[in-house]
Amino acid sequence: MTGLRDKLPPLLGAKTAKALAESLDIHTVADLLRHYPRRYAERGELTNIAGLEIGEHATVMARVEKVNMRRMRNKPGHILELVITDGQRRLSCAFFGRPHQHERQLRLGRTGLFAGKVTAFRNTLQLANPEYQMLDGDDDSAMDDFVGAIIPVYPAAAGMPSWSIARCVRQVLDTLEREEDPMPRELLDGYQLMDLFDALHNIHRPKDHDALEAARDRLKWDEAMAVQLIFAQRRFSTVSRPAPACARTKDGLLDAFDQRLPFELTEGQRAVGEDIAADLSGEHPMNRLLQGEVGSGKTVVALRAMLQVVDSGRQAAMLAPTEVLAAQHARSLREMLGDLGQAGELGAAENATKVTLLTGSMSTKERKQALLDTASGAAGIVVGTHALIQDTVSFADLGLVVVDEQHRFGVEQRDALRSRAANGGSPHVLVMTATPIPRTVAMTVYGDLETSALRHMPVGRSPIKTSVVPVAEKPAWLDRAWQRLVEEVRKGHQAYVVCPRIGDEPASNNSDRRPPLAVLDVAAELENGPLSELRLGILHGRMPPDEKDAVMRAFAAGKLDVLVATTVIEVGVNVPNATMMVIMDADRFGVSQLHQLRGRVGRGSVPGLCLLVTETLDGTATRERLAAVESTTDGFELSRLDLELRREGDILGAAQSGKRSGLKLLSLLRDEDVIAAARERAQEIVSGDPALERHPGLAHMVSDLVDEDRAEYLEKS
Ligand code: ADP
Ligand code: MG
Repeated sequence: MTGLRDKLPPLLGAKTAKALAESLDIHTVADLLRHYPRRYAERGELTNIAGLEIGEHATVMARVEKVNMRRMRNKPGHILELVITDGQRRLSCAFFGRPHQHERQLRLGRTGLFAGKVTAFRNTLQLANPEYQMLDGDDDSAMDDFVGAIIPVYPAAAGMPSWSIARCVRQVLDTLEREEDPMPRELLDGYQLMDLFDALHNIHRPKDHDALEAARDRLKWDEAMAVQLIFAQRRFSTVSRPAPACARTKDGLLDAFDQRLPFELTEGQRAVGEDIAADLSGEHPMNRLLQGEVGSGKTVVALRAMLQVVDSGRQAAMLAPTEVLAAQHARSLREMLGDLGQAGELGAAENATKVTLLTGSMSTKERKQALLDTASGAAGIVVGTHALIQDTVSFADLGLVVVDEQHRFGVEQRDALRSRAANGGSPHVLVMTATPIPRTVAMTVYGDLETSALRHMPVGRSPIKTSVVPVAEKPAWLDRAWQRLVEEVRKGHQAYVVCPRIGDEPASNNSDRRPPLAVLDVAAELENGPLSELRLGILHGRMPPDEKDAVMRAFAAGKLDVLVATTVIEVGVNVPNATMMVIMDADRFGVSQLHQLRGRVGRGSVPGLCLLVTETLDGTATRERLAAVESTTDGFELSRLDLELRREGDILGAAQSGKRSGLKLLSLLRDEDVIAAARERAQEIVSGDPALERHPGLAHMVSDLVDEDRAEYLEKS
């Protein structure tokens, strides 16, 4: 009998096992059985060809519409040309080599599965080096690999097509032993979950739709539990650590700051502020994520938290992703504090504190002083980049770390903060992000953090209109876009043109997609073409800092009309007079990045315009993502739509389809109830059995479903 932990080679032939290992990283029975079908084809129902993405390795159920055997032009031999269809659109395939051997199978009107890489040639979609399995014949035993009317389609690879995987799965399932279910009995009963053995059978070879549904429900729980157990263990280890308690004091800097605030705190700022104040007073470290779009007032919330900490005699550190942003933060904190932040200077308020900037590019002398202020405690607030916590910078008494921009600050960096407080304790941590995250993602990706959100802007922003420019279908629209940009400049405004690439890097040839458009090329074309009468500047990350500065200053001063740039403008650039943005190859950017980018043109009093230029075709998933960005400017709504459109694996940063990764079935969009319930159950289990010693099945499930990196930090903590 076969067990889940067995290796594949003795079960499957050596050649097959090797192919599975090499192409899909599948080594054990568990790997293979957790390689779930990506979707299911109904016998007789054809795959929608319009949904295919160029470059993808696809498996489609299609009908043979045209077969043509012809002589090769310049060489001896024949070529078999095939057109397959879903009834609407067509795909062409060609067989070289010994094409006659295919003729018997590939007959007009037959249907089957076809697999290969999708390419495009002159507006025709093609399937390159196709493999196939006909499904409507009486030829051979192919049909035995599929039990009923539901045919699984697996994430496949060249040389290991879907139907071969189905055959391997069937071989393994035939001898699989029914082992004890790793999930606790009461949980299975409580949620009426199918047991693992039956679920594995039915996910691969479903009897019917109900059984398939029940199998999916069960296997989703495995994924949700594995992830939530990890986070529960992390939270457990966090709350068992000591933290510097910073009780709210009366008549300190915070009260003084509140009294002179020129505006009322919004409802959200007040509520979040209270939660944070309570956390900071606690004996165990706060671990909180604060979400809110740019301009929603996060900095004020963070500063108030820092002042509470300084009032209790400790220090706060603020980390930014770049030195430029760190310097900006230090400046704006000093501005907001006024004389409350001028300790040691003339005219400082009584009990004032000091805001110190500490970066790598400071002069030796400045840096020495900053290090001294940090170590002595003279600086109540220290602002720097992430290097602040990785370095050997020593703090007198670090109570709170505020981190700006979550997406560059991962679990590893948060780990580096442990033990940085006095007496080996962990400082409180407040992470701020301008990218809204739906609740399920927060629970799944940032599951070790409590989350808060500022959902409303304190002050009105100008609306931004966004339009997709589909150059493949409407080439004239791009010309109109440039005309529009010229008009915008004539009205006295400025514009950005954003490209995915700089253009000075060596060409990479590992892809058959054309390389993304580059700043240097596009700028040259615009300068000599549609924007020849405008003043263009270039900005990208590999320019020397002083050149970058000069360009930014010139643009801010209105001495340049158009900035052709990479995403360096995503953070921090603030030119209210810029009202238009053209994003080239917009499909190469993520949804949240596009949203961040266009935020650069809604900063003035005039409505902004953002054009998303793309060559992708209507009906593809990529185009749907762009349509989502077009349809709303609400960051939270957008993050939900993004979730709907993205494959879940991408969210966890896992590799492509074939790779073993955390989430395969669990949908962060649709399975909120499963995720929330698993979070509660995991919390209960871990609080009674932190190391999962009494739940070996669950401990295994964690290591099976969660990749090595994630499992590793568990061991560290
Ligand atoms: P974020 O850090 O979220 O991008 P900031 O805290 O920098 O946002 O706030 C953006 C702007 O709004 C700042 O100029 C700030 O002074 C102002 N602001 C913050 N809170 C309020 C409020 N409650 N009412 C009015 N203006 C506010
Ligand atoms: Mg800010």
